[in-house]
Amino acid sequence: MAKLYFHYSTMNAGKSTILLQASYNYRERGMETFLLTAGVDTRAGVGRIGSRIGIDAEADVFGPEDDLFEIISRRLDAGPVACVFLDEAQFLSETQVWQLTRTVDDLRVPVMCYGLRVDFMGKLFPGSAALLALADEMREVRTICHCGKKATMVARMGPDGRALRDGAQVQIGGNETYVSLCRRHWREAVGGIPVTAPGTADPA
Ligand SMILES: [Zn+2]
Repeated sequence: MAKLYFHYSTMNAGKSTILLQASYNYRERGMETFLLTAGVDTRAGVGRIGSRIGIDAEADVFGPEDDLFEIISRRLDAGPVACVFLDEAQFLSETQVWQLTRTVDDLRVPVMCYGLRVDFMGKLFPGSAALLALADEMREVRTICHCGKKATMVARMGPDGRALRDGAQVQIGGNETYVSLCRRHWREAVGGIPVTAPGTADPA
């Protein structure tokens, strides 16, 4: 039975590497896969999924307005696909996640999504929120903080090496870098809990 999967993690946990390895496992057995990635991310060049360890693969690019059910349907018209792999899934809209559920339920093709769970302010990305609500299976891709504990948070570091507290959720290609941290070290890096309502500020 086809399922919708969400593999989530922080930055630099090796999600794209795991995606490319899983796709390779299908292709090695003579089965076709269909790779998609968000158009917003051009780190590996448009239409490629790249990994930090150097392997990459061509991928179709989706934008925020694209109908993924239509795109995958058209691909299936050209021949069978054993599995759809989608990178940068945090950039999906809620509507697009519903389109993926239709792909799984009506076209009976498994869809594996890989993405970040939370942004640098500790908030869910829209695509990740929808996938956490709607995916059949969720798997955490683990990485560790500098202290050795599991990293669950991401800090956006400015050019001066200090963690930023606010800014646009999506910012690619700037001078910022991202560091994966455990929650305690993330709180230390950003200087407390983000103020979301009166009385919730962390005095530490
Ligand atoms: Zn830590």
